[in-house]
Amino acid sequence: MIREELSEVPEYVPGKSVEEIKRAYGLKRVVKLASNENPYGASPKVFEVVKNFRDFHVYPPKNPVELKERISEYVNFPEEMIVVGDGLDGVLENVFKMFVSKGDTVAIPIPTFPYYEILAKIYGARIKFLRRNENFETIEFDEKAKLTIICSPNNPTGNVENFEFVREVAESVKGVVFIDEAYAEFTEKRLTKLAEYENVIVGRTFSKAFGLANLRVGYAIMNENFAKEYMKVCPPFPISTLAILAAITALDDIEYVKRTVEKIVTERNRLEKALGKYFEVYPSEANFVYVEAENSDSVCYELERRGVIVRNLKNFRGVRNGIRISVGKPEENDFLLKTLEEIF
Ligand SMILES: *Cc1c(COP(=O)(O)O)cnc(C)c1O
Repeated sequence: MIREELSEVPEYVPGKSVEEIKRAYGLKRVVKLASNENPYGASPKVFEVVKNFRDFHVYPPKNPVELKERISEYVNFPEEMIVVGDGLDGVLENVFKMFVSKGDTVAIPIPTFPYYEILAKIYGARIKFLRRNENFETIEFDEKAKLTIICSPNNPTGNVENFEFVREVAESVKGVVFIDEAYAEFTEKRLTKLAEYENVIVGRTFSKAFGLANLRVGYAIMNENFAKEYMKVCPPFPISTLAILAAITALDDIEYVKRTVEKIVTERNRLEKALGKYFEVYPSEANFVYVEAENSDSVCYELERRGVIVRNLKNFRGVRNGIRISVGKPEENDFLLKTLEEIF
């Protein structure tokens, strides 16, 4: 009875949890550098708001106007162009609902975030995988694609796309270009401005830099007509009031976010240098570092059983011997480096 399309769909596999690894190896200290979370957490002001929340029995607003206003100021696009969803994943699903019918072509540069392929398969799309160069910059596109997905900074490789290239894609394709900027806050080289194009949508999230992954708040910038249609496909109450308040409060305390991003970028630069001793390291514009090693499988295993969880990318399409390491707090990164020294 299950739709035929699902036979082709792989299940999304998240990073392993700290509890899982503690139990499996009987460890006291486990450091998780596998899910690109903000190790400093959300602004302390968010904790206050959560503590005082009482309206659990009330439905959230269908259209969280205040949050949209605040996002509009933050990204510098009119409020009418802002839509929200339950995480950027939820926004992405809505975008597929809007544009992708069975048999349409969805173009995906690889390697990249696996959820795009999952969604494309669920919607019965024909997938065109696009090639990247040796720096993982996308080097081709498909003019006929109904939807082209560009992730910049790219998960898992950490590089950004060339602005002029993505502009060319937007001007050349017949369909829509979705730019996933989940890691926008960690780079200066943003593509956000391209949302000025009628056929470009830019997606963002509160899960990474803002430290609110558990509350599921994502948003996108799209032209006004798209934004109206989005309201038809979006589930009635995508974000809880608690999550809306937390996101608004996090935006209010943007200084906190900037401080944590600065610390993460400083540590990222330190890690990039230090990891060069063991791996081929690729420069990153995000809050993680992508590395390659012949023996990536056994390195991941040896790290794991000593209490360091990193992301083995062996099941990522288009990756060979890749490992993605999220940037942690200085003492967590020290633990990683000390453990690598031990292993090597
Ligand atoms: C983490 C991530 C997402 C999902 O973000 P949520 O808002 O937590 O759903 C989307 N795209 C990329 C590239 C990501 O890394």
